[in-house]
Order: sequence, then C-alpha cells, then structure tokens
Amino acid sequence: MDAMIHAYEQRLQAFALAPTPYRHGIAWIDGAYTPIEQARIPLLDQGFLHSDLTYDVPAVWNGRYFRLDDHLDRLEASCRTLRMRLPVERAALREQLIDMVAVSGMRDAFVEIIVTRGLSFVRGADPDTMQNALYLFAVPYVWAMPPEIQRVGGTAIVTRTVRRVPPGAIDPKVKNLQWGDFIRGLFEARDRGAALPILPDGDGNLTEGGGYNLFIVKDGVLYTPERGVLEGITRHTVLDIAAARSLSVRIEHVPVDLAYKADEIFLCTTAGGIMPIAMLDAKPVGDGQVGPITRAIWESYWALHDDPAYSFAVPYAGAD
Ligand SMILES: *Cc1c(COP(=O)(O)O)cnc(C)c1O
Repeated sequence: MDAMIHAYEQRLQAFALAPTPYRHGIAWIDGAYTPIEQARIPLLDQGFLHSDLTYDVPAVWNGRYFRLDDHLDRLEASCRTLRMRLPVERAALREQLIDMVAVSGMRDAFVEIIVTRGLSFVRGADPDTMQNALYLFAVPYVWAMPPEIQRVGGTAIVTRTVRRVPPGAIDPKVKNLQWGDFIRGLFEARDRGAALPILPDGDGNLTEGGGYNLFIVKDGVLYTPERGVLEGITRHTVLDIAAARSLSVRIEHVPVDLAYKADEIFLCTTAGGIMPIAMLDAKPVGDGQVGPITRAIWESYWALHDDPAYSFAVPYAGAD
C-alpha cells in the first residue's frame, strides 16, 4: 500500500513541474481542447436543464487506461436505455479519450464522458432525429476517500433521513447525475461526523452511496447488493479478484442489519478504488482496523492496473 501511494505522490510532484496549460485538467467540447477552468457548456443543453443525460467515468492510472472498453460498453448500454446515441462512432470516441489524456500529460486522471439529449426538449420530439451532445474532460485523479484515510479506514453512516431513489423511478443501472438522494446523504453524513453515506432502499436493505458500491464481509463471505445499484466496473473487478482468490460472494438483498454485524466493510469506485470503512454509525466495524480480506482486495485491485488484460498505456508525446 505505502509503495503504491508513494509512487503516485512522486508522479504528482513531477506533473506539478511540467509546463502545461492543463495542470488542473482538460476538456473536449465542440471538437476543441480547453483548459478545464475555461470549459463552458450551452445553457440550453437538456443535460443541464433536465439532467437528461448519462455519463461514465474511466480512470487513467500510472499512464494506463483501466478497463476503458468496459466503461464504453456500459455507456453504450446506458445510451440505448435512454434512447440516445453516441454522437460519434465508438471507435472515434475511444481514440479521442486516449488523445485527450495524452495531450494533457496527466499520468493519473479521472476521465468523464457525458452524453446529453442535446439542445431540444424531449416533449413532442422524435428521439431518432435529435442531435445528442457529447462532452469529455479529464482532471487529476479523484479520491472519494483520501489515500491516507484508506490506510486506516474511513467513516460511514447508514442514512436515516434519505433513502436511495427506487429503480422504478430512476434506473440505477444507467449511470446518471440525479444526485439529490446522494447529496442529502452526504449532508447527513457530515452532520453526524462521518464522511461517506450508505443509502438504504426503504425496504430494509442497503444499496450504495454517491458514486460507490458496497461490500460487506461476514464469516469470510463477501456480500454486495444485487438491486437498486449501479453495476460498477470496480464492483466487477472486486468480483474477478474474489473469484481468483476463491472467496465466496453473494450478490443478493443485503439487509441493513448485516452492516452492524460485519467483520469488514468496504466501498468501491473508479474514483478512489477500494475504500475500507473502519467506523459505521460511530461504532467500530469488526475490530475497527482495515480487515485482511479488504487489504488483500485492495492490493490486488491496484496490481491489476499494470495488467495488460485490464489496462493499456496512453501514448504520451515524447514518452519512452
Ligand atoms: C459510478 C458509480 C458507482 C461506481 O462505479 P464504478 O464503475 O466502479 O466507478 C457506483 N454507484 C453509483 C451511483 C455510481 O454513479
């Protein structure tokens, strides 16, 4: 853990000295790159006016894109569900994403792809003739839980004042920016002295939080909610790691109660990886340390970022 974080911090220091207009990030809008702080979107875009959009977030780690094609598969599926089409061919989008990160020079990046309905409102409109819009940006890698907290485990709550929007209202399998429930959860967490909310579904089961999935470890078995959640790529990676390590996994309804009996809890996301939870509702999870299964999955997760089966190198200009 320490070696990996140290190497990352050294890359950050090197990037801080590199001459680039993209120190804080880069955006690709209307066919041109701009420094992220100058990027603008049209006011009348329906993504902004009605959150009529989907998005996805792959990451670049140590100069390598991680599971980019899996993110593009999910984005295409989300577009189909929403009756939208990628405004460019998938292969061209893939090349643009690679080029954008190469141009930025960032070795560790959070990359966001947003597809919106475009400039016309959906009422009375024919989805097949609407021109959907595409926005891309990349910023320095984002940590939903800072690495120094990951070493010791972070704090979480099960929210009491808000539940996850039900799948019959907003399909959680379509990655979306209707974050009203998550934002309420984040404020409740803050009010209760914790960092990360986990939202129940209102029927006594746990779902997820703002941009991350949930795993609970009990008696050596991994549990993760099957319903009411985004099927995270990181969640998939954890399932791959569990299979390789012959750990048993149950993808099923996860009752709220199980969290309070857990041996270990971790949250997982592209924006921060494997996030151990040491305190839930101000009480220790297990012995209040980062548990052995969480630690093993953490190590495997980051090791896979060098694995050509999961990642490929970004062709930076002047790189050896
Ligand atoms: C993006 C996201 C996740 C995590 O997905 P990854 O593909 O692992 O980054 C989980 N839940 C929600 C609601 C999300 O938006």
